[in-house]
Amino acid sequence: MDHLAHGHPRTTPADGHPATEEGHPVIRVLEGIREEVADLAGGVVADYIPELAHADPEAFGIAVVSPHGRAYAVGETDRPFTIQSISKPFVYALAVEERGLDDVHAHVGAEPSGEPFNAISLDERGRPENPMINAGAIVTTSLVGPGERGVRFEHLRSVLSAFAGRELVVDEAVYRSEAETGHRNRALGYLSLAGGVLVGPVEAAVQDYFRQCALSVTVVDLAVMAATLAVGGVNPLTGERVVSQRTARHTLSIMSSCGMYDRAGEWGLRVGIPAKSGVSGGILASAPGAFGVGVFSPPLDEAGNSVRGVAALGRLSDDYDLHMLRTPAEPPSPVHSVTRSGDTLDVRLRGEIDFLAAEQVVSRLAETIDDTRVRTVTVELERVSGFSDAARALLAAELHELAEAGVDATVRDPRGVRGA
Ligand code: GLN
Repeated sequence: MDHLAHGHPRTTPADGHPATEEGHPVIRVLEGIREEVADLAGGVVADYIPELAHADPEAFGIAVVSPHGRAYAVGETDRPFTIQSISKPFVYALAVEERGLDDVHAHVGAEPSGEPFNAISLDERGRPENPMINAGAIVTTSLVGPGERGVRFEHLRSVLSAFAGRELVVDEAVYRSEAETGHRNRALGYLSLAGGVLVGPVEAAVQDYFRQCALSVTVVDLAVMAATLAVGGVNPLTGERVVSQRTARHTLSIMSSCGMYDRAGEWGLRVGIPAKSGVSGGILASAPGAFGVGVFSPPLDEAGNSVRGVAALGRLSDDYDLHMLRTPAEPPSPVHSVTRSGDTLDVRLRGEIDFLAAEQVVSRLAETIDDTRVRTVTVELERVSGFSDAARALLAAELHELAEAGVDATVRDPRGVRGA
C-alpha cells in the first residue's frame, strides 16, 4: 500500500495504490484540508444533464501527485464520476499537438469570455472565445483527426487515458443522458459551423464531445492528468510522453486564463494554479513544475465550480505556497563550486541550466577575463541535468569571448547534456 509514498514512479493508480495511510505527513496535510472544508455547506448539484442529478452531494475526495509520480489521496478516492469539462484542456492539447497552435487558434480564440460555460460566446471572427467554454471545446473536438466518428473518439479516449495512466471508459448512462438533452450544445455547434470554424458534420463533433465528457475518472486520475501537464507532458507514473513540453505549456496557459469560467480573475488572484472545473463537481489543478491536484465534490457555486473544490484548492495554494506567481526567496545557484589551482580555474555547474542560470554562469566566467592569474578555464557539466537552447547560446557566446581574450576554455560534458 505504501510503495507510492516512497516513490516507485512506474506504478499506476489503476493498481489502486495512492498513499492513503494516516501517519504520512502529506496525507495529514490533505486530511486537515478535507476536514476543514467538508463542513462547507452551499452549492447545488448540477441536474441539467438528468443523470448527474443522482450524484451524492456529500462525496468528497482530494488527490495530489508529485512530479516524481508519488500519489497521495484522502476521502473518496475511488469514487468514479464523469470528467465533463475537465476533458477540454486535454482535447485542446491533442488538437494543438496535431495541428499546431496557429491553426487551432484560427478556429477558436484565447480570451476569457467572462461568461458561463454554455454561453453563445463568439468573437468578431465567428470563433468561440476560448477552448474551455462549450462552444470552443466542441470546435476543438472537431479539429482532432481522423474525422470519422468512432475512430476519432477512440483516439481521444486513448490520449486522455495516456494522461491518466490507465484506460478510461465511458459512463454510458451519463453519455446517453446528455446526448438526449444536449440541444444547446448542438446549437453552439451549428453556430460555429455557420461561423466557418467547426469541421463538420456538427452531430459527429457533438457526439464525440458528449462521449469525452462522459469518460469516468476518479480524483486520483485527475491528479495524474494534472501532474502530466505540470511536468511538461510526460506522465510521471508511466514515464510516457503524452504531448510535447510546448503543448503542455500552451494548455496550462489556456487553463490559467479561461479554466474557471467567469471566475478566472478571482481564481488567479486567490489560488493561482492553472485549473479546470467540470459540472459533475471535479476540479483539476496543475501547479507548473510542481504538483497535480484533483478534487471532487458535486455541489457547485453560481459560476459552476465545486464549492468545496474551490475552497480546498484555495487552502492548498495558500498554506503550501503553490501560487504560480510566487517569487522564490533567492534564485537557485547553478554554480556548484569554483576552484583555482595555478592559472587554471575549475567551474563546476549543477542542475538545470536555463537562461537565468546561464546568465549567472557567464557573468562568473566573464570575471576571468580581467583576472590575470587565470589563463585556463574548465567548465564541468557532470552534475548538470539539462540545458535550454537559450542557455546553450549564452554559454557559446561567452566561450567565444574568452577565446578572443586569450583565455583557454574547455567544457567537460561527459553525459552530453549540452547537446549538439
Ligand atoms: N458536458 C457538459 C456540457 O457540455 C460539460 C459542461 C461542464 O462541465 N461545465 O454541458
